[in-house]
Amino acid sequence: MVIKISNILLSEKIIDKKILMEYEEYLIHRQWMSHALQLAQSAGEHGDVPVGAVIINSNGELIAEAENRKERDQDPTAHAEIIALRAAAKTLQTWRLNECILYVTLEPCPMCAGAIVHSRVGTVVYGVDDAKTGALRTVLNIPDSAASNHQLSVIGGILESDCRNVLQMWFTNRRHRTK
Ligand SMILES: [Zn+2]
Repeated sequence: MVIKISNILLSEKIIDKKILMEYEEYLIHRQWMSHALQLAQSAGEHGDVPVGAVIINSNGELIAEAENRKERDQDPTAHAEIIALRAAAKTLQTWRLNECILYVTLEPCPMCAGAIVHSRVGTVVYGVDDAKTGALRTVLNIPDSAASNHQLSVIGGILESDCRNVLQMWFTNRRHRTK
């Protein structure tokens, strides 16, 4: 029996519609994460830790994109997520981003997780866990903490190895440069 997901030639006995939908969503998540990775790469090339973020609206359209600019701007709050949230709120003319999905290559830090809760983002999709400052689940879980008044969906591990590699290579190169 042939199961070709790309052509949607499926036996419904084997793969039900829910799984197909999840697979299509997964492909969309990969596509936007790949966009965020390009932004991360650009941040790295400009001397910032390579992290990129994009926000899409309920129609699946890109409404904001940003890369980490902390070093370039000498701004401690210039993480990719914060810049993207500001841009999305400006585009939609509202700080309430319930219908939006935020994609970010690295698990958000406590500052960004706080901003994500404040913006009421519906879903966060991230690439790789941050064992040092990850605040969606790895070190802290700010959205589910007592300090949070907003529930959101969190999906981790999309293009995880690519997201990890871009960071590891950047830190390795920097160590070589500073020797
Ligand atoms: Zn952050």
